[in-house]
Amino acid sequence: MPATTHPSVKSLKAPGPDGILLVIHGGAGSRGKHSTPEREAQVEQDLQRALDAGYAKLEEGACAEDAVVAAIHVMENAPEFNAGHGAALTSDGIAQMDACLMGGDGEVGAVAGVHTVKNPIDAAKAVKEQTKHVLFADPQDKELADWGVETRDPSYFITEQRKRSLVEAQTNGDEWEKHGTIGAVARDARGHLAAATSTGGITNQMHGRVGDTPLPGCGTYANDETVAVSGTGIGEAFMRTVACHQVSDRVRFAGQSPLDAASATLDDIDAHHGDGGLIAVPAHGDGVIAFNSEMMNCGYKSPAGSHVQG
Ligand code: ASP
Repeated sequence: MPATTHPSVKSLKAPGPDGILLVIHGGAGSRGKHSTPEREAQVEQDLQRALDAGYAKLEEGACAEDAVVAAIHVMENAPEFNAGHGAALTSDGIAQMDACLMGGDGEVGAVAGVHTVKNPIDAAKAVKEQTKHVLFADPQDKELADWGVETRDPSYFITEQRKRSLVEAQTNGDEWEKHGTIGAVARDARGHLAAATSTGGITNQMHGRVGDTPLPGCGTYANDETVAVSGTGIGEAFMRTVACHQVSDRVRFAGQSPLDAASATLDDIDAHHGDGGLIAVPAHGDGVIAFNSEMMNCGYKSPAGSHVQG
């Protein structure tokens, strides 16, 4: 990996000088003592399926929003990731999920604390497209039905792995599973950008805690003039630094490259006692994957090439 001027930041270029480009992440953190080669292979397979699904949309000429939603669906349905089926559990053992979808035109929708929506990103999309609002906290069954969003019994989201993780977090403060929030950023054939992020939050979080993911500018942000960004990591630090908007501001007002902007933002996150990763796709030029945690599940695809790493 190329060195940056920010010593604690590791980074990867997502080549795509022009035209369509998709970058995804499946969470950042430490490998955890239960990581196995089989599980890592499964994560890489799922990341590849998510990239393929989103990229197929871009190749068909669909908009960036459709591409990021298609990629997110695959990862929300895969139990390895901390979103949808397999989401992290709160201290009272339920999955409370957050999601956000934002277009580079400033249109944005988000949900916080949903516990029955099969694909939380669909609820965020419905808020964006079907309401005049931006963020709903725990929308009621009637709204979900009006929006045409598919629901499941709360037990659908709970996996054995996440139950073990909760027990470990509650007994020794350690976690079985330390990463898995998912995100996708894309540039479509018209040069329009979009960002999407979906999460179960942090294992053993208090009931009602909301992280950075559904807050525009914190865990998710897109601006056609600058970048589309999605983050993963300790949400409180991403909120305190308004991380994804900070990346955009650094590009816009300080003239930094997306890599320098993401790296400097990660330094700020570090100064606020957080770690994690950011993915960004600019209006023009290569995308970037940057993280200051031990590892990051991620991938990119463009006419210039494709790569995944778990
Ligand atoms: N950022 C997410 C949150 O704080 C968690 C993560 O990315 O792992 O809710």
